[in-house]
Amino acid sequence: MIDFHTHSAASDGALAPAALVNRALREGVKRLAITDHDTIAGYQSVRNYLPAGIDVISGVELSCEWGRVGIHVIGLGFDPEAPGFRAHLKRLDGARRERAERIDQKLERVGMPGAMAGALEEAAGAQIGRPHFARWMVGAGHVASEEEAFKRFLGRGKAGDILVLWPSLRETVEAILDAQGMPVLAHPAHYGLTATRLRALIDAFTSAGGAAVEIINGRPKPGEQDMLWRLANDRSLRVSVGSDFHRDSTYGAGLGVDVTNMPSGCGIWEVV
Ligand code: AMP
Ligand code: MN
Ligand code: MN
Ligand code: MN
Repeated sequence: MIDFHTHSAASDGALAPAALVNRALREGVKRLAITDHDTIAGYQSVRNYLPAGIDVISGVELSCEWGRVGIHVIGLGFDPEAPGFRAHLKRLDGARRERAERIDQKLERVGMPGAMAGALEEAAGAQIGRPHFARWMVGAGHVASEEEAFKRFLGRGKAGDILVLWPSLRETVEAILDAQGMPVLAHPAHYGLTATRLRALIDAFTSAGGAAVEIINGRPKPGEQDMLWRLANDRSLRVSVGSDFHRDSTYGAGLGVDVTNMPSGCGIWEVV
């Protein structure tokens, strides 16, 4: 059991980093990456206090932009101290802060004042993101659920979906490579791309130096997994897997993905 895509309370997950590690250990995960959005604070806080029986590698899920679409690239096994990588994270901190200000302005214009202060309170020191705005919107009675907040205001193509501030896909892949890490294209099927555009994205990722494609994100979907496997294989990319765990939920996946039946020579876990 491996899990190379999880979130802690350092970004938009519910569990403290140490609780996430302990949960993964209990569920039989042998190798884990905490891949918070644009921050390694969660990983940094536990890396020197890890329990026996689980290997926790460095991880992060970086926001970037390709062809006016917001894309996520996971970094695995990088040197967390590499100066170029630290500079990239700092730039993302600024971009998230600036994006939050712009979401605040957009929401104010549609009758929801005080969103920034509310979202910062929800974040409680974590890397700020749209889920914190969504939670505040529910608490303030503007929407009935986080799902509705995304559907109407924050999701792809809506007012709160602001991309112009993100680094490019290429810069992002390079920042990970620069820190001796493995860049993994996260959940390629979740960007709403046509088959042609999806191939173009994977080509761009490959030419930038990408290492692997995430073929399982959350619950395994066999058709999607096979399609992504072929796309990766055609370009000699490796494959990665993860739960994208944020919290216990009835629809989300639990921690850990069983990779025992995957052919050898293909997994990013064999080289990171
Ligand atoms: P951000 O990182 O600030 O761009 O926010 C993206 C995060 O919002 C994703 O990683 C998910 O955790 C969460 N998210 C995206 N879409 C939805 C949705 N429809 N409902 C609830 N949460 C969502
Ligand atoms: Mn998230
Ligand atoms: Mn993602
Ligand atoms: Mn994620």
